[in-house]
Amino acid sequence: MSATWVLATDARGLVAAIAAARGAGGKVTAVAVGPRELADAAAAAGPDDVQWLLPDDSVPAEAYAAWMADAAEAAGVRILVSTAAPAARVLLGAAAARLGAAVVPGAVGLAVEGDAVVVERLAIGGAVLETVTSLGPVAVIFAGEDVPSPEAAAPVAELPAEVAAADMRVERREPATGGTSGVRDAARVVSVGRGLKAREDLAVVQGLADTLGAEIACSMPIADDFGWVAKERYIGRSGQHIAPRLYLALGISGTPQHMEGVRDAKVVAAVNNDPKAPVFRTADYGIVGDLYEVVPALIAALKK
Ligand SMILES: Cc1cc2nc3c(=O)[nH]c(=O)nc-3n(C[C@H](O)[C@H](O)[C@H](O)COP(=O)(O)OP(=O)(O)OC[C@H]3O[C@@H](n4cnc5c(N)ncnc54)[C@H](O)[C@@H]3O)c2cc1C
Repeated sequence: MSATWVLATDARGLVAAIAAARGAGGKVTAVAVGPRELADAAAAAGPDDVQWLLPDDSVPAEAYAAWMADAAEAAGVRILVSTAAPAARVLLGAAAARLGAAVVPGAVGLAVEGDAVVVERLAIGGAVLETVTSLGPVAVIFAGEDVPSPEAAAPVAELPAEVAAADMRVERREPATGGTSGVRDAARVVSVGRGLKAREDLAVVQGLADTLGAEIACSMPIADDFGWVAKERYIGRSGQHIAPRLYLALGISGTPQHMEGVRDAKVVAAVNNDPKAPVFRTADYGIVGDLYEVVPALIAALKK
């Protein structure tokens, strides 16, 4: 049975991805592209071994996409797994293209039955669990929940330093202010979901954000399906993970995929017209009501 590779560029979701890769039954190798701390985190996340590539100074992990494709082909890997981290997905995509692998996003489970790789994945916004099978190589983007780390650490082998990277460098890093990604470090975030009926209605939400000195964020469909808010601003498992002092969710149902992005928020408050909305299970404060009435009332109260 061939090895399964789990590609890692940051440690988030890695324990769960490696646990899922175990379902394939063979050896599980974590291939970590990043600093020594990442290799150590990968080793502690439960693989049989770790192949570790330390990028050159200022070279981002994505620059090693072509190398990853060569390496996966040379090793004859049949199952590739990545977390949802953007750079890990780039590496996975490059290797998948080289291997001619079927790419399966949203995976939550993995198994091998006879000659087939069987992947369970979430579909239709997480409402449906779909089982897909493939006889060829498979590249899986894992979307399952984080699980606790196992006890033992696997051996780490450092890969040769002369590995070729694409001509790509990070020239400078500076704090993002005001732009699309200010949401990441904001102390207060006002976030909007499908409870909003029209793009123009963002004005009222912006009014509340301005009053609170908050950044605007949203659920995935508002950015991905409607394009009303920049994609860099959607919160959740596959979007931004943020830790504001206040996260105010307006017309957001509060699925686990969304709430995972605000697990580290200090206070979560929600406005939703459905008293049974899941968001109220995790929110510290909740208002059951129509956001079109509640938001203007909040603005008026805050301005007093
Ligand atoms: C693999 C995978 C990854 C995903 N990753 C993410 C992710 O990172 N982030 C993310 O957000 N989603 C993610 N999703 C999608 C997620 O499962 C939900 O479908 C999505 O978050 C729902 O968005 P929503 O809450 O805006 O919409 P809905 O679920 O439609 O909820 C709208 C809410 O608004 C309320 N409402 C309606 N009208 C009003 C009103 N006038 N006033 C007040 N409340 C009102 C409703 O009661 C409802 O609760 C992912 C799904 C999958 C399968």
